[in-house]
Amino acid sequence: METQRFDLSSEDIPKNYYNIVADLPSPPPAVLHPGTGQPIGPDDLAPLFPMALIGQEVSTEREIPIPEPVREIYQLWRPSPLFRARRLEKLLDTPARIYYKYEGLSPTGSHKPNTAVPQAFYNKEAGIKRLSTETGAGQWGSALAFAGKLFGLEVEVYMVKVSYQQKPYRRSMMETFGATVHASPSDRTAAGRKFLAEDPDSPGSLGIAISEAVEKAASDEGTKYSLGSVLNHVLLHQTVIGQEAMRQMELAGDPPDIIIACAGGGSNFSGLAFPFLGAKLRGELDCRFIAVEPASCPSLTQGQYTYDFGDSAHLTPLVKMHTLGNGFMPPAIHAGGLRYHGMAPLVSHVLELGLIEARAVEQLACFAAGVQFAETEGIIPAPETTHAIRAAIDEALLCKEEGISRTILFNLSGHGNFDMQAYDDYFAGRLQDYAFDATAAAAAWEGLPAVG
Ligand SMILES: *Cc1c(COP(=O)(O)O)cnc(C)c1O
Repeated sequence: METQRFDLSSEDIPKNYYNIVADLPSPPPAVLHPGTGQPIGPDDLAPLFPMALIGQEVSTEREIPIPEPVREIYQLWRPSPLFRARRLEKLLDTPARIYYKYEGLSPTGSHKPNTAVPQAFYNKEAGIKRLSTETGAGQWGSALAFAGKLFGLEVEVYMVKVSYQQKPYRRSMMETFGATVHASPSDRTAAGRKFLAEDPDSPGSLGIAISEAVEKAASDEGTKYSLGSVLNHVLLHQTVIGQEAMRQMELAGDPPDIIIACAGGGSNFSGLAFPFLGAKLRGELDCRFIAVEPASCPSLTQGQYTYDFGDSAHLTPLVKMHTLGNGFMPPAIHAGGLRYHGMAPLVSHVLELGLIEARAVEQLACFAAGVQFAETEGIIPAPETTHAIRAAIDEALLCKEEGISRTILFNLSGHGNFDMQAYDDYFAGRLQDYAFDATAAAAAWEGLPAVG
């Protein structure tokens, strides 16, 4: 049988989010106030987030109930299917068995709505009128625009300028859902004006766009800020992916040996990996975990593990993470969602504990893997997702070399139907690899805050 698909029914949509903190051997380091260097409290975050999300951010409970209205909306695309990639296995002539969890069937085409919907829900419950946010390639902005619309919230998006130019239809999509979109850096915020003054042609970065969105929320009563990755509560919401995948791999009767996902801020990786990692920590299963990042923006494999700002204008609290420095400007690769200087503190923490592995891959090799996947499985992956596919294919080829069969599960975090310009550039030979710019990172590390 060439096509093998493992489906669950709508009653199988998880009833709780899974919190990895409950099963970790040590808690992640405290988040610090940049002024005092002391751990922050809920009140410090209150201007930016509703209390329900702040509570989740610091929770140590293993299970956090998913509100029924959120589960109801999840039915639009959850449970998401899990496939075995038999045609890809055949093409690679590998003894490995490759499975993928497909998150691209959500309304906006990626895993991002898994957290956009609960974030909009909790903000609405708290009486908030408007959400401000950043977006890289536009996946997060479209997810929040969609979720905001469902709950009657206004959504204002600061979109990294290079992506604003590379992906015009993502902007159209956000506008279709009623959001307003600004190319970042913009002249609408003090942070944006500062970066424009330094470099009028700045391609922008997630770090800058976050500064603009945070400034907007902090300076307006009825506006809260919403982040699409990195934070504990975002990773928490994404664990619906891994919880479903655990049951689907049971249906397949094939426990995974290796779990792989790409990592920009770390949310789709955590979403798939953390429920399995928790089970591993409880002694219920055994497997390896690989987070895959771009060679040009390699926070996990080349970054320092230290306290840094989450944004470029130093408006956020300090978090301990693998970072290339908040002033690091990643090259304009097409995987816009992976162009972030830092990494989720929880992902950094589990890497530091030796519980997961990290790997960096080059852009051209990723697109080659993406095309092989499209040719065999029929889904054109998002440029971000091709990083996971590259690593999955490399592991499958290693199995072939070693004559060993392993079960590989990766997260197909999103489709690339809005990223055809990237594929066009790839086919026309207009894309290049960018080596990690260690000099630029060293300069950015000069600007690290002096704490911790
Ligand atoms: C945003 C995005 C990513 C990267 O973000 P994470 O938080 O690391 O998951 C990866 N894949 C797709 C399709 C995305 O939209």
